[in-house]
Amino acid sequence: MEIQQIHQTSANMAPSVFQLSGTCNNYPWGKQGKASLAAQLCAQTPGTDFKLDESAVYSEMWFGDYPDFPARVLSSGELLSDVLKTDKEQLLGKKVLQYYDGQLPFLPKILSISKALPLQLHPNKALATKLHEEDPGNFTDPNHKPEIAVALGKFEVFAGFKPLGEIQPLFALQPLKRFDPSPGKWDDETLRNVTRELMKAEFSTVKEVQTQLSHLSRSDLPSEAGYILNLLPRLQDQYGPEDAGSLVTLLCMNYMVFQAGDAIYIPADGIHAYLSGDIVECMARSNNVLNTGFCPPADRNRIDLFANVLTFKAHSRDDVYLPSQTYDKSKNGKTVVYKPPMSEFDMLKADLGKGETEELTANEGPGVLIVTNGEGIMKAQGEEFEMKKGYIFYVAPGVNLRWESKQALQIHMAVI
Ligand SMILES: [Zn+2]
Repeated sequence: MEIQQIHQTSANMAPSVFQLSGTCNNYPWGKQGKASLAAQLCAQTPGTDFKLDESAVYSEMWFGDYPDFPARVLSSGELLSDVLKTDKEQLLGKKVLQYYDGQLPFLPKILSISKALPLQLHPNKALATKLHEEDPGNFTDPNHKPEIAVALGKFEVFAGFKPLGEIQPLFALQPLKRFDPSPGKWDDETLRNVTRELMKAEFSTVKEVQTQLSHLSRSDLPSEAGYILNLLPRLQDQYGPEDAGSLVTLLCMNYMVFQAGDAIYIPADGIHAYLSGDIVECMARSNNVLNTGFCPPADRNRIDLFANVLTFKAHSRDDVYLPSQTYDKSKNGKTVVYKPPMSEFDMLKADLGKGETEELTANEGPGVLIVTNGEGIMKAQGEEFEMKKGYIFYVAPGVNLRWESKQALQIHMAVI
């Protein structure tokens, strides 16, 4: 009798590992047609109605349970969020039920970036809650959204502030003197106000300053700031000479160029603008953002709020970089983990050479993985799954995974 009951329960249980399909969006900073890795990966999942259109721009593929651009269970076409509701205990686990409201606490994406994303920050929880109450149309959830980005190739980014000692000398330059309220005596509040004034400057002023800046020669600038003269025309090309985003990013923020496998962490209230490349991004379950530059003027109506909440936690390149670490649940050492200083998620990256295998012991929480390169086989719960570039899988808590590579295999996986 008992045995029969157990058998019946397991027969009714949803599978613990299943394939998903993601959803692409088309923001104007994305890459064209099949040059977009987001679109390429999205197109790999068989049996969906996604057709890659060469004339379209593809910016992001999302594959979480957030209502915008949601993931679906491939076999049934059902929304992942609906399927998770059918058995939260099994599919999300106790930890998620207890601490994260019974929803997937992270949101993974692939981004393909051809030009600067809006200069932005994601508000902290208290502010997000307030904004969501006041303006639920624009702030669709009450959550914070710290995020990480793992480069899949060359990745250019502006993130966090430079050390004050690198910013101040730039504002001693003739074109920028007018923005320097206290020459030689800056602290973070000075930087906050300078950022605010740059963003609030008249279009004509911004244009004048950018034109004067572009006439400087490399020898006029401190040696570590020479890149500003290379990037200014590129940003002007993308957003025109009247966009203050170019001044804030080039003068005040760290500019970094990363390679595949490098990762960054952006805390809540952290200023950032990704510039180019293909990345895996993962964030807390939220879509709240304040934009101030590299976007239409109508989207920049909260400059004071933006300036007021800015965090100065990241004040150098090293503060932004998120190094990978060995992953203690990996049996064969092919997997590293990126651990942002927050509780919602970690990101795993597995790299297997030809014929290699990797085994991961089970997690307490759920995971979502995407094959970012190569092909192979996944074994889990006595079942085998074909893995190809672009395939996305949901993995319930308590499931041991075994991956076997054919030629090569790379997997990125968000876990709790
Ligand atoms: Zn962001």
